[in-house]
Amino acid sequence: MSVKTVPFSDELIQNIAAKYGTPFHIYDEKGMLDNVKRFQKAFSWNPNFHEYFAVKATPNPWIMKSLKTLDVGSDCSSMAELVLAESVGIKGEEIVFSANDTPDEEFIKAHELGAIINLDDVSNLDDLERLQIVPERICFRYNPGPELTRGNAIIGTPEEAKYGMTYDQLMTCVDWAKKKGISYIGIHTMVISAELELPGLLGTISMMCDLANDIRDKKGITVDFIDFGGGIGIPYLPEQEAVDIEGLGEGARKLFEEKMAGFEKTRICFECGRAITGPYGFLVTKAIHYKNIYRNYIGVDACMADLMRPGMYGAYHHITVLGKADAPKDHVYDVVGSLCENCDKFAIQRKLPEIDMGDLIVIHDTGAHGHSMGYNYNGRLRHQEIMVYEDGSVQQIRRNETLFDLFATLDFPSLKENTAKVEK
Ligand SMILES: *Cc1c(COP(=O)(O)O)cnc(C)c1O
Repeated sequence: MSVKTVPFSDELIQNIAAKYGTPFHIYDEKGMLDNVKRFQKAFSWNPNFHEYFAVKATPNPWIMKSLKTLDVGSDCSSMAELVLAESVGIKGEEIVFSANDTPDEEFIKAHELGAIINLDDVSNLDDLERLQIVPERICFRYNPGPELTRGNAIIGTPEEAKYGMTYDQLMTCVDWAKKKGISYIGIHTMVISAELELPGLLGTISMMCDLANDIRDKKGITVDFIDFGGGIGIPYLPEQEAVDIEGLGEGARKLFEEKMAGFEKTRICFECGRAITGPYGFLVTKAIHYKNIYRNYIGVDACMADLMRPGMYGAYHHITVLGKADAPKDHVYDVVGSLCENCDKFAIQRKLPEIDMGDLIVIHDTGAHGHSMGYNYNGRLRHQEIMVYEDGSVQQIRRNETLFDLFATLDFPSLKENTAKVEK
């Protein structure tokens, strides 16, 4: 069992809370970059290995900029994510644009940026024809269907997943690209999510190696790009072990040695989100209410607007109470937010130290799909993000939303005036 620790001193968190108020998401740049370096090192046997950051995990340009110092590119799936990448100065081969039910203007933008356009379906060929787009770089998303019996609660089983295309459709796409004279062709898959075990991750790599070989044997094309997708999990639970990244790199090296002669120039990549930022973000929130009815509740000043995962997936997020790391965990609480939804609970029947009003509660592993998944139900506002840089400096990298932001799309008499009465 691992001990889940916080990489910041209590004093630093208290000072940030005093200066910026609570709640806030706080990110540890050093942890994030060290982890990426470790990943890159594990795959350094292949000079064409690249890591792309799945922007949806934490779509903040400051984080993308920081990752870019290690040549981490962007995996984008929407206009917003493309514009973020563009603003950070990421373009061309450093962007993978993964389509799924994609509007025309996003294909156009991805094409403008020279991204690797990752088609979700054979029908996307009609979209490109209609838009008269012949991408410089194209990639095709593979869904192996029931052939692959693995799957899990988040992504389901591949045959039930909406992503990617069948083997035959993918071969049709390769023919199309060849006919169009596109010289850069890639393959991609995303069949796994939040996976901690090597067999599943290596199975994905092996499957993609086989597909690359099939394309070469059948179509005479050596793919330029193989994208193993994201899906590398993180240990949310104290009893879980982190993915053995060195073992993954070594396993991949062996698979390449076995299967991939002649693919030495092929760029290979992962496009991880969760594994890159997840463990390096924390949601810090203050205990502001308690109630004792049939259960004991602690009400905090964050809610599902700041972190959906527990309410949405029943996900476990570890919680520590600032300054009470060594106190006995002799109380049982539901730690809840203020939404009118009973699933707005960060922890259910959790053993914790006695919590006093005003205590700072640290919710772990919120660096991916934390702030980014938030929503404004009940008119709840999303909160600030703070980065602690490797050199120790602290920056608010996103301010709190205001009611003005929330109402910006409403044109209604006196709404702005009345908002001004409650917003400073
Ligand atoms: C969500 C997603 C990822 C990242 O998944 P993680 O589980 O966060 O690593 C990568 N690629 C695509 C296309 C995705 O949709």
